[in-house]
Amino acid sequence: MNAIVFDHVSKHYGDVLAVDDLSLAIEPGNTVALLGPNGAGKSTSINLLLGLLKPTAGTVTVHGRSPDTAVKAGEMGAMLQNGALIPELSVRELVDLVRRLYPRPLGLDEILKLADLTELAGRRANKLSGGQSQRVRFALAIAGAPRILLLDEPTAAMDVESRLRFWAGMHDYAAGGRTVLFATHYLEEADEHSDRVVVIAKGRLAADGTAAEIKAGAGGHTVSFALGDQPVAGLDRLPGVTAVEVDAGTAVLHTTDTDATLAGLFRGTTLDVRDLKLSGADLEAAFLALTRES
Ligand code: ADP
Ligand code: MG
Repeated sequence: MNAIVFDHVSKHYGDVLAVDDLSLAIEPGNTVALLGPNGAGKSTSINLLLGLLKPTAGTVTVHGRSPDTAVKAGEMGAMLQNGALIPELSVRELVDLVRRLYPRPLGLDEILKLADLTELAGRRANKLSGGQSQRVRFALAIAGAPRILLLDEPTAAMDVESRLRFWAGMHDYAAGGRTVLFATHYLEEADEHSDRVVVIAKGRLAADGTAAEIKAGAGGHTVSFALGDQPVAGLDRLPGVTAVEVDAGTAVLHTTDTDATLAGLFRGTTLDVRDLKLSGADLEAAFLALTRES
């Protein structure tokens, strides 16, 4: 049985269509990145999974049951974008309080270790930096040993060091066969920390696969050069080209085949090509190409 299923799910906020006919199935034990720019519908999707929002159309199921049922059974843990900590409590007190609410929580020391909070355990919540507070939110999300962990832009406000430690803890947690879905607009995070990347843009599914598949499939290579005042016409018909952008006299050709595009550019046009630059298939280019199309 799938851990998470979205079956033709749409969600309107009044006139705003935040999630648009999204269908998606996630198997247990996978770590999946939900990648999309701001406003793509990531938080809405996570709130639908938690039963905090109800779909306008379609159904969301968690281990075959409704989100409400799964939450009540203690199957889900979540780290949301907003969520205040109780300022008067120490980190240890707060984590212990929350873990005691669950039927089969992780041990207190284990949670503190996974979230890299052992040394901060005595610190009061109102004396934490932004990144440290995020690590406490992560600790609270895993406290109940949920089978499904949802993380909404978990590394926001974390410095480089905190990020590294956070991802190490996330991987340790996921390694026990648990399912993790994390929302991010950082391409590198999706690339590095997931088994599968689900790209959404404007509430719609734009791509779904491993980071490598998405790079390969979306024409993530670019050829750019100084175009100056020369005409743009015809660049989009060069071999391999999937999209053309011209900005401040620089042309950027997105292509699935750099070699063919270059051959076409030099043999098939009379353009004066200067300041030529090539970039390999990176997820950023793929992501831009995908989110532009949809
Ligand atoms: P993301 O988390 O990917 O940035 P969201 O799910 O927060 O995206 O938002 C998706 C879309 O829905 C955006 O256009 C956003 O402005 C809109 N939206 C989100 N929450 C609300 C709300 N409570 N009322 C109205 N519109 C909302
Ligand atoms: Mg969001």
